[in-house]
Amino acid sequence: MTTTLQDCQALDAADPLRGLRSQFNIPAGTIYLDGNSLGVMPASAPARVAEMVTQEWGTDLIQSWNKHGWFQMPGKVGDKIARLIGAGPGEVVATDSTSVNLFKVLSAALKMVQTDAPQRRRIVSERSNFPTDLYIAEALCRQHGMELVLVEPEDIAVSLTAEVGILMLTHVNYRTGAMHDMAAVTAAAHAEGILTVWDLAHSAGAVPVDLTRAKADFAVGCGYKYLNGGPGAPAFVWVNPLHTDRFWQPLAGWWGHAAPFAFTPDYQPAPGITRYQCGTQPMISLAALECGVDTVLAAEAQGGMAALRTKSLALTDLFIQLVEERCAGHGLGLATPREHAQRGSQVCLRREHGPHAPPLRGSLPPEGAVTALGRPGGGDSGAYAIVQALIARGVIGDFRAGDGGIHKDILRFGFTPLYIGFEDVWYSVEHLKQVLDSGEWQRPEFNRKHAVT
Ligand SMILES: *Cc1c(COP(=O)(O)O)cnc(C)c1O
Repeated sequence: MTTTLQDCQALDAADPLRGLRSQFNIPAGTIYLDGNSLGVMPASAPARVAEMVTQEWGTDLIQSWNKHGWFQMPGKVGDKIARLIGAGPGEVVATDSTSVNLFKVLSAALKMVQTDAPQRRRIVSERSNFPTDLYIAEALCRQHGMELVLVEPEDIAVSLTAEVGILMLTHVNYRTGAMHDMAAVTAAAHAEGILTVWDLAHSAGAVPVDLTRAKADFAVGCGYKYLNGGPGAPAFVWVNPLHTDRFWQPLAGWWGHAAPFAFTPDYQPAPGITRYQCGTQPMISLAALECGVDTVLAAEAQGGMAALRTKSLALTDLFIQLVEERCAGHGLGLATPREHAQRGSQVCLRREHGPHAPPLRGSLPPEGAVTALGRPGGGDSGAYAIVQALIARGVIGDFRAGDGGIHKDILRFGFTPLYIGFEDVWYSVEHLKQVLDSGEWQRPEFNRKHAVT
């Protein structure tokens, strides 16, 4: 049975989480399916940031470190994030960037391996992991004479051998939205004596995570995606309390010192996760991040992450169903797993490179205009241009380039259940259908490459 716009409106009317959308002012005429890349601004953020700037910075100045608890902010916001990822109070700090935090935890994990099992000289990760994760791991491997081994997801299990010290994975793949079973993978790694480092960039605030139950070793994650913390928001870091006090992290700055205001010449790491702080933190950004984290915590009264997850799966199921019903015949395939347990909060459509361009109905661009400009992404799949045409219609998704091999160009749509509804899903597929049926995406303006895709 096909799903109609009216059905979708009925789903919205019955949605117990629909009130959470009022925490945001989504621009009129926009269906925002990119909360996996930059979350929507919380409506509370401008006033909070203004207060931080005019009152705390402008008037109270240096007294704010004590008066407004600035010094405790990374831990305070970290404790809030901890509630979303199955960590305890005092186990998370909001600080630095995901890349920098990954450097810190991976260094600490390497130190553990070098101390406990120096014969293990490999780090295993996924070839399609987010590049910064791979670059950080590669740099550390060069520094420590280790080897970075990249595998496809189906080969992770067989790659966990006696040579491996660390398994570094992103829980939900940024390209495909495929999700690992964190508890099962961690148990498999531990059974072989291997530590696990998890990147929660596409998990925190998007899917339920239980680091404690999974017995994970290290985790990092992002503040500006599903946590709605604003562009460049501080990221977060968690270390299993069993490991935290065993080693220094390498960026041993004064904010990680046991007594920073003793100003001693020698370094004494603070107990617990505080030692994962380095230097002075961005207070204005932390204030905005707290607003964002609060928008997710606001769901706690309606069932929290479990309820958000139920809605997220319903949204992505509906999107997949409508795309398959209404957009067939345009060379689009599903890159995201259908299996709920293997799906994050996004849907990615794969577009093969090659001659899928349908004949252009309506007005044709000038002869040669499209090919002369070329299409970005290392191919001519049209995925980039389709996303651009959707953006012009107010449906904001994004494009991720394929590698010309098994990883195809991808149209990526993130569904943040806090502010996306079922009617949004219906209209986004309607726009996609119109863009494809009309061939509108072939217009030259949609084939010009921007710096950020
Ligand atoms: C978004 C993302 C990052 C971002 O790292 P930054 O340091 O914030 O630029 C890192 N890793 C993964 C897996 C991501 O999805």
